[in-house]
Order: sequence, then structure tokens, then C-alpha cells
Amino acid sequence: MSRVLVIGAGGVSSVAVHKMAMNSDIFSHITVASRTKSKCDAIAASVKERFGVTIDTAAIDADDVAATTALIKQVNPVLLVNLALPYQDLTLMDACLAAGVHYLDTANYEPRDEAKFEYSWQWAYQERFKEAGLMALLGSGFDPGVTSVFTTYTKKHLLDSIETLDILDCNGGDTGLPFATNFNPEINLREVTAPSRHWDNGQWIEGPALTNKQVYDFEGVGPKNMYLMYHEELESLAKFYPEIKRIRFWMTFGDSYLKHLDVLGNVGMLSIEPMMFQGREIIPMELLKALLPEPSSLGPLTKGKTNIGTIATGLKDGVQKTVYINNICDHEEAYAETGNQAVSYTTGVPAMIGAALMVTGVWKGEGVFNMEQLDPDPFMDMLNKHGLPWKVQELDAPLAF
Ligand code: NDP
Repeated sequence: MSRVLVIGAGGVSSVAVHKMAMNSDIFSHITVASRTKSKCDAIAASVKERFGVTIDTAAIDADDVAATTALIKQVNPVLLVNLALPYQDLTLMDACLAAGVHYLDTANYEPRDEAKFEYSWQWAYQERFKEAGLMALLGSGFDPGVTSVFTTYTKKHLLDSIETLDILDCNGGDTGLPFATNFNPEINLREVTAPSRHWDNGQWIEGPALTNKQVYDFEGVGPKNMYLMYHEELESLAKFYPEIKRIRFWMTFGDSYLKHLDVLGNVGMLSIEPMMFQGREIIPMELLKALLPEPSSLGPLTKGKTNIGTIATGLKDGVQKTVYINNICDHEEAYAETGNQAVSYTTGVPAMIGAALMVTGVWKGEGVFNMEQLDPDPFMDMLNKHGLPWKVQELDAPLAF
């Protein structure tokens, strides 16, 4: 029985809070606090209507460490679940240290004024969390999160050693809109337009964004174009699995999405450099975010499935094998259960599971942890029980590319 404080009230938060309310034996009391309180109230109303559970709401600016520390002390949770934006990771970690509570997030820190994400800023909190006897769990979403746990599970149960790892992220969902991003537009567009990078024999290989294209036939979706990209779990996987020679991340994009991205980039709308417009400073990317649909509004529109998984090659008992672990999630089923589409669902459910394992003490530690460092088995069990079932297949051959 544990009190939790969830920060942020977007699509991911909405799913996580609904799933926490469905598990009130684990989460005895939930408070949701975010910049816009009305969005917290909307989540609370939906939770009340669906499951009869009452949750508290509050307004908070999570960039303000003193105000957040005061809120944590007032709510008195054992764990703060950060489902705001990567910009808030460090201020929220500071507030957790000041108030003496554990911390969990789903995306690594990214400075607002530079399109760059890496773990160094959060790994630098290791000693402070250790000294305080607190645990910070980084990246408990799907990717990062479940993909890291799939890898740990592969190493624990399926292969004696992993030689190559490919993460395949397919969103076969269609909103019917010409252009929309399925999670926070600003964070999504910064990630997608970054140069590609993958791990190869102990070094990072960089290339221009969205140029290495392959076709993969995804179960439940069909053949899709997928593109080599950099993604944050590559950094932690390369650190915790030095044995893996090559680690790559692939994400599917439709032609219409890429055409819009091209045009928006060409006219300067993806820039994060401030500019003057009619006497006031604006950032083109922030203006674009305001124009695009909110991811939390896409639930009723999205049809189709996501299919995300890991393909690993390596040796088992001296024999070369290729194993694929994946989950298929249906947008409309996710919406029926929580009022949110599958990309929010596949992130919010692992956030709830990570939180459950921490508050029940199944996953515990002092310091800053990535998902790869923890026992995959209880997490994999909970995925099956809480809406993200997975399966293991042995493939006949490694990927041909
Ligand atoms: P949204 O943009 O829908 O929601 C973000 C929420 O954070 C909004 O409610 C926003 O408030 C709130 N917020 C922003 N700044 C502040 C602040 N200073 N103080 C308090 N609240 C603030 O994003 P998503 O729900 O789509 O994504 C949430 C997180 O999940 C992001 O960090 C994203 O990167 C991560 N993610 C991780 C994935 C994974 O698999 N690991 C996949 C998808 C997302 P307001 O409503 O006022 O703007």
C-alpha cells in the first residue's frame, strides 16, 4: 500500500494513472500534478468514472525545485513518477533528493536549448541518490524500458551471449490526419531529425538522419519502411552489455509523415533557435507544437497496431540462434481501456509496472539505475498481466541487412 505522486498530465501520464487506479492494492493513493491543473482533473474524472477510484490533483511547475519539494512533502509519497517532459528530469531528481523520495522516469534528460539527449547528466546523480539511500529508475517506458528488459531477458534465458541486437519499433496506427506525432511533438521531432547513430565494434557510427531505409514485414501490421535512428537505450545497452558487437534501432515512418517533416525542416519550422516575430521572441519548434494535435487527443482517431521488439543473435549451448521478442498493441483496444492511443499505452503501462516493482520493494537499490540492471522476470510477468503480452520466437536466420 503506497502513495505515489505523478508529475505531468499528457497521454503517458493518463495511461499510467488509469493503470495505477486499476491496481489500488499496490497504489493506495495517487496524486497527479502538472502545469495545467485542468488536465489533471480530466484524468481524475475519467479514472473515477471508469474505476470508481478517487485521485488528488494539483498544479505544479516542475521546473521550480522549491515548489516541487514543498508539494512532495505535502503529498508524502514514497515515489515520484516523472511523466512530464525530459526537460524536467534534473529538477525533479533534485526535488526528490530534497524531499527524500524515490524517482522514476521514461525518458532521459534533454536540455531545452540543445537537441541532445544522453544519460551523463542523470548518471551524475549516482552518488547523491546512493548517499540518500534512494533509488532513481531511468527509462521505464517501452523504448527505452521494455526493450531493455527484453534484452536482459534474452541474456538471462535465451542466449548465453548476445552478438547483435536490433530494436524494431513499428507504429502501424493511422490517425487519418495528414500529420501528427504520437507523443510530445517537440520531443518527437527533435529525436527523429537527429543524425542516425548505432554501436558497431566498440564505437558509434553516425550518418545523416533517415537515410538508411529497410523494409520489414511486421506481424499484425504488414510490410513497413523502417529507418535507422539513434535512440537513448542504445547508450545504456552499450554500457551494460559490452559483449554486444552491434546495436541498432529502427523506427517505421510513412511517406506522408516524412514529406511533412521535409517541408517543415526546409522552411525552418523545426528550428529551436529563438527568433523575433512581430516584436516578440518565438521558437519555431514551440510554435509548431502549439499548432499540432496534442498526442492525448489522438486516442479516438487512431486505428491499427504497434509492434515493438528486439531481435538478438548469439550463441546458445554453442549453437548460433536468432531470437525475437515482441509485443503487439492495438490502438483501439488501448483507447477503450484508458481513453488513450497505443503509443501512450505502451509507455504508460511500463511506467506503472516499474513504479509497482519499486513501491513493493521487488526492485530496490540505492543510486541511479537503468532498466538493464534489474531482474527482468517480475517485469516480464507483469507485462503479460497488465495489457502488454509478449512472445518469443526463434527466427530461421538473422536479419539480412
Ligand atoms: P505530453 O506532452 O502529452 O505531456 C507532457 C505533460 O507534462 C503535459 O501535461 C505538460 O503540461 C507537462 N509539463 C510540461 N512541462 C511541465 C512543467 N514545467 N511542470 C509541470 N508539468 C509540465 O507528453 P507525453 O505524455 O506524450 O510524454 C510524456 C513523457 O513520456 C515524455 O518525457 C516523453 O518523452 C516520454 N515518452 C517515453 C516513451 C518511452 O517509450 N520511453 C515513449 C513516449 C513518450 P501541459 O499540459 O501544461 O503542457
